[in-house]
Amino acid sequence: MKNTQAYYDNIKKKFAEERDLRLKYRPEGTAQYTSEFTGVLSKYAMDPYAGEISPRESINDTVECLFIGGGFSALLTSARLRERGVESIRIVERGADVGGTWYWNRYPGVACDVVSYDYLPLLDEMDYVPIDHYAKGREILAHCQSIAKKYNLYELAVFQTTVTSTVWDEEEEMWHLTTDRGDHMKARFVICANGTLSKPKLARIKGLNTFKGKSFHTSKWDYEYTGDDLSKLEDKVVGIIGTGATAVQAVPGLGASTKELYVFQRTPSSIDIREDWPTDPNWARRLKPGWQAKRRALALQGPTLTEQMAMRNASSGAESREEKIRRQENGNIDYMMRIHRRIEQEVKDPETADALKPWYMFMCKRPCFHNDYLPTYNRPNVHLVDTHGKGITEITAKGPLFDGKQYELDLLIYATGFEVQKTGIYNQIVGKGGLDLNDKYSEGVRTLLGVHSRGYPNLFIMGGYQASFQFNLTYILQMQGDHIAECINHARKHGHKTIDATQESEEWWVQEVIANRGKTTRNEDCTPGYYNFEGEYQRRQDGNYNGGVTKYLEHMENVRSNMTENFVFT
Ligand code: NDP
Repeated sequence: MKNTQAYYDNIKKKFAEERDLRLKYRPEGTAQYTSEFTGVLSKYAMDPYAGEISPRESINDTVECLFIGGGFSALLTSARLRERGVESIRIVERGADVGGTWYWNRYPGVACDVVSYDYLPLLDEMDYVPIDHYAKGREILAHCQSIAKKYNLYELAVFQTTVTSTVWDEEEEMWHLTTDRGDHMKARFVICANGTLSKPKLARIKGLNTFKGKSFHTSKWDYEYTGDDLSKLEDKVVGIIGTGATAVQAVPGLGASTKELYVFQRTPSSIDIREDWPTDPNWARRLKPGWQAKRRALALQGPTLTEQMAMRNASSGAESREEKIRRQENGNIDYMMRIHRRIEQEVKDPETADALKPWYMFMCKRPCFHNDYLPTYNRPNVHLVDTHGKGITEITAKGPLFDGKQYELDLLIYATGFEVQKTGIYNQIVGKGGLDLNDKYSEGVRTLLGVHSRGYPNLFIMGGYQASFQFNLTYILQMQGDHIAECINHARKHGHKTIDATQESEEWWVQEVIANRGKTTRNEDCTPGYYNFEGEYQRRQDGNYNGGVTKYLEHMENVRSNMTENFVFT
């Protein structure tokens, strides 16, 4: 039987009530978090994987291309630069190896939700076929290391080093970089490759510092404490704050290994089925060279997840804009109600099942896919502490305190996420005329394609705002990397010392971004999260380009086909 419009309207009303509740509890938006881990919080910044920082002499030298960050952005772009004959490439990385996200995130159960054959980049070039349909963190990190080896990127790489300032010298037409290791490096081209979700954040919870037990952020997992197989947690009472994509993957392993596990939830994630399987060796053998490039191109022609949903609910006849929006919203609600039914089927205790139901539109928050997360709540040692949108607001020496109840823990894990898409996360970037990039952006982000910002010649931004990220992230990063390599190649080939966006091209792109944002009230309607700046007011140019991936790539090609019009060269 078809649901009535009143049924959908009621659910929409409940979505709005839940959102308002969340906003009421945390009106401070993004300020509810901190990512400045200094003083008593400095333990959350320690790298548990590398051990002590190895001493070394400070570096004073010059390279041609310098990457700030050693994750996929740097690796993909370096591969293209090598193909174009660039020899002098340096990666400067905070971790003790390449890998970025996949270096830091080693929590139990870590894997990627994008199909491995699409997600893992350079599969054609590396002649590699992933082990499973969805790759696990360990395999992805190993793939990053293989890329670095193949393209000889370890030679000049500098690890356990954080770039602290990047300053343009107008006379020399070179970037001068300083680091936390006392280095002074010069580079002709600098690529900000610091990732989209790299700087861990903690919720500012009263008494956070007073907890006497062990605690860490999920991106700094202490295996010495938990044991590699989590066996050291057998007699431990453990708590985890947060139920986003990270917690969803970590909770099943923790549930199976701890004496007691408390999951502190503010907003539930939507959890759909994850269809995973080992790669079929016969399929892998039959793959022809260039298979991944073809596969990615084909995927790009297909609809996005949200478009697929809209198509499933497509109308047969002509309809007004309002009717179209209503039809799409109703389809979205049907999907979320299926997610609710799945919870009822998987979780035995009705009260827990109810608390795990997400009350917001699909894609308001990052959707999750897992087969073991929900059944984990059927274990007698696993307890969901639902804070009904309030979140944990107080921690004592013993552990979180909620609703008058003290949770006494041995270990408290923060699965509270990361800062989003900031350029220069530990690094002050100063361009022409001594202008700090943050000051330039204080009136709103200004870029060309999300990659170039006028007044910062020979500087390229990857994974920042004003680019399109609606598709597989590594594919977009590859497209940005190809674009950057082409720009650098163009400058080198034509004997130009610098390349910078023109005033007009930057203004055109800012307007293009604005024109494609704010078409719907979706951001306001959604429950808060990092997708909508935690419900904060937001300038329309300060997010991603919403015109679609295909259009973004088209714009990128058009810009490149008209270099002299879009850029100033010296
Ligand atoms: P998120 O930002 O998604 O989640 C943070 C969690 O902390 C939220 O559940 C948030 O609740 C909760 N939280 C914050 N403050 C409090 C509080 N005071 N009390 C209780 N809970 C609180 O971070 P994640 O690390 O989970 O994920 C970040 C992103 O990384 C993902 O969205 C995804 O893009 C990527 N990722 C991808 C994976 C994959 O491919 N499978 C795996 C892991 C991560 P609330 O929702 O109410 O704000």
